[in-house]
Amino acid sequence: MTESALLNAAALDPAALDALQAFVERHPRLFVLTGAGISTDSGIPGYRDENGAWKRSPPITLQEFLGSQAWRRRYWARSMLGWPTVGLAQPNGAHRALARLETAGFVRALVTQNVDGLHQRAGSHGVIELHGSIGHVHCLDCGAQYTRASLQPLLEENNPDIAGAIAEPAADGDAHLDFDGSLPFAVPACAACGGMLKPSVVFFGENVPRARVAEASAALDEADAVLVVGSSLMVYSGYRFCAWAQQRGKPVAAVNLGRTRADPLLALKVAAPCAATLEALVQRLGA
Ligand SMILES: [Zn+2]
Repeated sequence: MTESALLNAAALDPAALDALQAFVERHPRLFVLTGAGISTDSGIPGYRDENGAWKRSPPITLQEFLGSQAWRRRYWARSMLGWPTVGLAQPNGAHRALARLETAGFVRALVTQNVDGLHQRAGSHGVIELHGSIGHVHCLDCGAQYTRASLQPLLEENNPDIAGAIAEPAADGDAHLDFDGSLPFAVPACAACGGMLKPSVVFFGENVPRARVAEASAALDEADAVLVVGSSLMVYSGYRFCAWAQQRGKPVAAVNLGRTRADPLLALKVAAPCAATLEALVQRLGA
């Protein structure tokens, strides 16, 4: 364990850990659903506070992004400043603990609402990224795909006045830059056709692709129970798996600081930090 995880572990409630261990031993094929709370220890801010309310303004919607060049300037200006935080982030103990639980056979599926790719980098396999990947960009006109990292030098080179600005990082590679889009900003275009580039993430106001939902739903059928980690489940795209689990007679447990939308239907709630809790669980299971 890391030093901070040890400090947190000292504060963990042994009875809650007993209950979580028993839950996993009774339901060894877990459908794990993770959210922003698992990545905050990696330095990636979340959107919401412990009550599930927006910390600041809501994120950009698909309609805004597609609807005006000013919104796209604003999006890319903020992305240029916010990208390093998510691009350079490292997996933390919670990501690594889930990878170890998978190796030990406890994880039937790992479904994440996060777009940061940290589960894969921690060694998890077959991760279903409900909301896509912030590390990738595609052309809406010709379908060409690019890595987000490859755009960063171009963005900085073409927008030197803003590239040096200091802005507090926000969720999903965004940053709190006060930029209304009316100022000049060179928005990146597709190198192949000059078309409009969009990050390969599901924006607010956009649906999760049906095939991805179907894949996750099928995985839920093969699981014994749902384990939610670090999510308030305020967004329906994640919450629905808890509702479906209940309909299908599968219990739901959650490790989350603060309330979740699924609290009324939880069989078990552990209100404790993700990393310390999952690391303790791994030790207890000998995983
Ligand atoms: Zn193109």
